[in-house]
Amino acid sequence: MLMKAIELLKNDDLVGMPTETVYGLAGSIYSEIALQKIFKIKERPFFDPLIIHVSNTEEAKILVKNWPKSADVLTNKFWPGPLTLVLEKSNLVNDLITSGLPTVAIRMPNHPMALDLIKNFGSPLAAPSANKFKKTSPTTFQHVKDEFLDEVYVLDGGSCSVGLESTILFLNEKEDYLEIEILRKGFIKYSEIEKILIENGFKLKNAKLENSIIVPGNMKNHYMPKKPLVILTEGNSKEDIKIKFKTSFEMNLSNSPEIAARQLYSHLRLSSQGQEDIIIFKKMSWHTGELWEVIFDRLSKAATEIC
Ligand code: AMP
Ligand code: MG
Repeated sequence: MLMKAIELLKNDDLVGMPTETVYGLAGSIYSEIALQKIFKIKERPFFDPLIIHVSNTEEAKILVKNWPKSADVLTNKFWPGPLTLVLEKSNLVNDLITSGLPTVAIRMPNHPMALDLIKNFGSPLAAPSANKFKKTSPTTFQHVKDEFLDEVYVLDGGSCSVGLESTILFLNEKEDYLEIEILRKGFIKYSEIEKILIENGFKLKNAKLENSIIVPGNMKNHYMPKKPLVILTEGNSKEDIKIKFKTSFEMNLSNSPEIAARQLYSHLRLSSQGQEDIIIFKKMSWHTGELWEVIFDRLSKAATEIC
């Protein structure tokens, strides 16, 4: 299986790659043909940059102009894992990957199959989530098969243990302080990032990037299931839903946010399969805390209405 995947990558082709966050659609960062294929198969616009996946920090260092001390601190703590760092790119990085931005997004996934694939292929892989643009992310082998049928060879690495996309963190280290900004919330919490950086003596400032880097993962209407999803806040009744519908399916998630994160994309897909017109998810007052915030970040982008 691994040999076949490597052969495909060497021939400018793509491979469905399991990671702990979601499945990725991976191609060689040094193959322009493979990079073009990623955008074509995903129906992804070229303004949406890709994350580069590495199997060790040395591979990451050559992709950036400067690898700051803060990157060492963060990667020692969180790599391999669901933290993507955005740093100024080196000339090795193709503009197709970064959509012409001066920065590049890099992470080291915490999945043995992904690490084996990158290591044995011999260089990093660009991989967005293996779903069509704006649609629900895949967290199982079967999800990727359903999305792309036989168009893509997929490695079966089981169900994703995290189930939510990585936290994306922009870093700009100056002499006296460190500018940071979360570009996409994810499983690694801001409080954990802040804690380790402060413990290591960094003075943090917000980078205030809102207008200069637009992260498509933050666009409205992402992660959308096949049917309209309505989030119903506790205290409101179904009658409060303003859009017209006949029947609804109520989606449930575990009370534990770690398990709910893992269930989220599977349940969105399953909830789309019945006869009902819409999916409802009830937001309860106890849905609080950083991880529930991330789950509701994804749910509200997947939703057509929140009432
Ligand atoms: P996906 O691969 O579909 O999970 O999305 C990857 C996310 O990483 C997208 O929202 C991208 O916009 C974001 N991303 C990739 N490269 C950069 C970059 N250089 N600066 C900011 N965001 C980036
Ligand atoms: Mg995606």
